[in-house]
Amino acid sequence: MTKLENYITGDWITGDGEGQLLYNAVTGDPLAAATTRGLDFKSITEYARTVGNPALRKMTFHARGNMLKALAIHLRNHLDKFYAISYQTGATKADSWVDIEGGIGNLFANASLRRKFPDDIICIDGESHNLSRNNTFMGTHILVPKEGVAIHINAFNFPVWGMLEKIAVNLLAGMPCIVKPATVTSYLTEAVVKEIIASGILPEGALQLICGSAGDLLDHVTSQDVVTFTGSASTGLLLKSNPHLLRESVPFNMEADSLNCIVMGEDVVPGMPEWDILVKEIRKEMTLKAGQRCTGIRRIFVPENKLEEVWKAISASLSQIVIGNPLNEKVRMGSLAGQSQREEVKAQVQKLLAASQLIYGSLDSVEVIDADASKGAFLSPVLLLNATPWAITEGYSTNASHEVEAFGPVSTIMPYKNVDEAIALSKLGKGSLCSTIVTADYKQAREYVAGAASHHGRILVLNNECAKESTGHGSPLPLLVHGGPGRAGGGEEMGGIRGVKHYLQRTALQGSPTTLTAITNVYQPHAAGKDPGKHPFKKYFDELQIGDQLITEKRVITSEDIDRFADLSGDHFYAHIKTTDFTGTMFEQQVAHGYFIMSIAAGLFVDSYEKNPVLLNYGIDELRFTKPVYPGAEIHIRFTCKEKLPNDKRIVEKPEDFKRGDDIEKGIVKWLVEMIDDTNEVTGVATILTMVERKA
Ligand code: NAP
Repeated sequence: MTKLENYITGDWITGDGEGQLLYNAVTGDPLAAATTRGLDFKSITEYARTVGNPALRKMTFHARGNMLKALAIHLRNHLDKFYAISYQTGATKADSWVDIEGGIGNLFANASLRRKFPDDIICIDGESHNLSRNNTFMGTHILVPKEGVAIHINAFNFPVWGMLEKIAVNLLAGMPCIVKPATVTSYLTEAVVKEIIASGILPEGALQLICGSAGDLLDHVTSQDVVTFTGSASTGLLLKSNPHLLRESVPFNMEADSLNCIVMGEDVVPGMPEWDILVKEIRKEMTLKAGQRCTGIRRIFVPENKLEEVWKAISASLSQIVIGNPLNEKVRMGSLAGQSQREEVKAQVQKLLAASQLIYGSLDSVEVIDADASKGAFLSPVLLLNATPWAITEGYSTNASHEVEAFGPVSTIMPYKNVDEAIALSKLGKGSLCSTIVTADYKQAREYVAGAASHHGRILVLNNECAKESTGHGSPLPLLVHGGPGRAGGGEEMGGIRGVKHYLQRTALQGSPTTLTAITNVYQPHAAGKDPGKHPFKKYFDELQIGDQLITEKRVITSEDIDRFADLSGDHFYAHIKTTDFTGTMFEQQVAHGYFIMSIAAGLFVDSYEKNPVLLNYGIDELRFTKPVYPGAEIHIRFTCKEKLPNDKRIVEKPEDFKRGDDIEKGIVKWLVEMIDDTNEVTGVATILTMVERKA
C-alpha cells in the first residue's frame, strides 16, 4: 500500500512500519497508509525555527502578503486534481468547494490584509502616548513575529481549508508552521502541500507536513512557539494540559466541538419569507459536508406553539435530499469521512436519544444512489425532537441535547416560551462557535444578541433582507473572528488583523519621539523634522524620507474669508455667522469653519503649478479641530512625511480592464498636517494621503 509522505526538514519522507490504513469514504476501498514512525520531531521543530523562521522574519508584511497571493493563484491552477481527491473523502462538489476554494479564498483574503500593515518587519500597534511634559519621552506598542514555529493540529472535516485558514495567518505574521492534519483525510492535505512545495513560492522551512500520529511533537515546543488545535474537546483538553506546554507558557488556541443553535424568532409564522429561510438554513447546515462542520446547527429552538409545524417542514425538506456517490451530480449529501466517524455519530445519537425521540431519518438504513450503503460511510440525516429541554438527563449536568455533539447530519428541535427562555437555552451549550436567530423583528434581534452574545463566538441575524447574500450560519470568514467561549474551546482565530496578532509579540516601546520614529519608520508627534532639500511634492516615493518636513508661509484668517467660505460651501452654521449673539455658546465670536482651515492648509502646503511626482490626493485618514480659529488669527502649517506604503501595480489581464494610471509604479504617502496659530498652538491636525510616483 502506498504510504503518504511527510514533508520535513526539506525532504519528502515516509515513516516506518505499515502505518494506519486510509479508505475511500464512498467505496470503502483502501487508498493509502499514513505513518510518522521514526520521524525525529525535535529536529522538525528546530528546522522550522532555524531555517523557516529567519527567512520569513526578514520579509516585510507586504512581501509575505504577496507571497500568499502568489500561492493562492498557483493553487487555483490545480483545482481539478484537488476536487478529484476530495470526492474520496465523501464530499460533494459543494462541500469540496467550501474546503478547497474556501481555503484558497482565505489565502487571498489574508494576502489583501497586508495593506493593513506597513511594508516593514516591525508594525506599530495602536496609538502612541506622550509620557512627558516637554514632549521628549513617549511610548507606543510594536509587533514583531515570534521566533518559534506555529504547530497546527487539525480536524478531519476540512483537510484543505483547515490547513490554509491557519497557515495564511502565521505566514503573513512571519512565522513558519508544522501542519498535522487529522490522519483519516490527510491524503488530501498531502496533495495540496505537494503543490505548495513544488511551487517554490514559500521559503524553505516555512511549511512542514506530518501525515499520521503527532508522536512526541508537543514535548519539543518552546515559549516562542504557538500551538493551535481544532478537534474534539476531549483531545483538546489532553493536549492543552501537556506539562511541557504549560511549563513553557506556550499559547494554545483551541477550537473544539460546540452545540451551536438556531433560534426561530417569535414573530416568524408560515407565509413569511423568514419561515422558509429558517427551514432552508437548517437543511443546508444538516447536510452540507454531511453535517461534519464544527459550526453545524445541533440545536433548533422554536416557539412552542409552532413546534410541530416547524419539524414537519424541516422533515419534508430533508426528504428531498439525494444521498449517495458525490460524483453523481444529483447527489446533495455525500458520506461521512469514514466508517469510524459513522460509528461515532451513531453512538452519540444513542446518547441524545436519552432525552429525545427520532422524528426523521434512521440510524440503520439509508437510501443512496450510485454507491453501496454497506461499504461507504453513509448516514441518513437525523432529526430529533426534545419536548423538555430543561429536564436533567440522568448522567448529565443539564440535558443531553445541550451536552452531546453528534458530528454528522444530526440536529435536535426543542420548544421555547419567550425570548428570555430562548437566550437561556442557547447558553446551556456552555459556549458555542455560532448562533443564528431568524427574525424580521429588529427589537427581538437586539434582545437576543444582547442577551446571548456572551456565550457565542459569532451571531448571525438572518432575515429576508440579507438571506440571499448571507454567507450562512456555518461559514467562518477570514475577516471575522472564528472561535467561541467555554465548550467551543475559548479560542479565537482569523478575524482579519486580530488573527495575525496571535503570532506576533506585542512589546511596549519607550523613548524619545525622534528615536521611536527611527525605529518604527512612522513619524511620531514632536520628533525632529528633516529638511527635505526641496518641496516634498517634488520628490519621488523612493526619495521621500520619514520626517521630511515643510514649514509653510503664514496666512491671516479674516471675517470675509469665513463669510465667503460659508457662502461657497453653504455651511451657515450659527457659529460661522458674525451677527450671531455668542452669549451661552462655546465660542467668543465668529469662528472659522474647520474645513476652511483644512482647505487653506492645502493652499499653503501645495506649492506647484507644474506636474510633479504626486499623482493625486487620496483622502484624509484623521482630522481633528482642536482649537477655535477666530478672525485675525495667523495660521501656518507644519507638514511632515509620516509613513510610506507601497502600492502594488494592478495586474490587468484584459486590455479592456486597463485604467488610466495602471502602468505607473506608485505608493501611498501619509502626511501629518498640523495647523498652527500665532500663539504656536495646534488648532487642527490631519493625516492626509497622497499617491506618489516611484522613480523609474
Ligand atoms: P479529534 O479526534 O479530537 O482529532 C483532532 C486532531 O487531534 C487530529 O489531527 C488528531 O490526529 C489529533 N490528535 C488526537 N489525539 C492526539 C494526541 N494525543 N496528540 C496529538 N494530536 C492528537 O477530532 P476529529 O475527530 O478530527 O474532529 C472532529 C471534532 O472536531 C468534532 O468534535 C468537531 O466539533 C471538532 N471540530 C471543531 C472545529 C472548530 O473550529 N471548532 C472544526 C472542526 C472540527 P489523528 O487524526 O491522527 O488522531
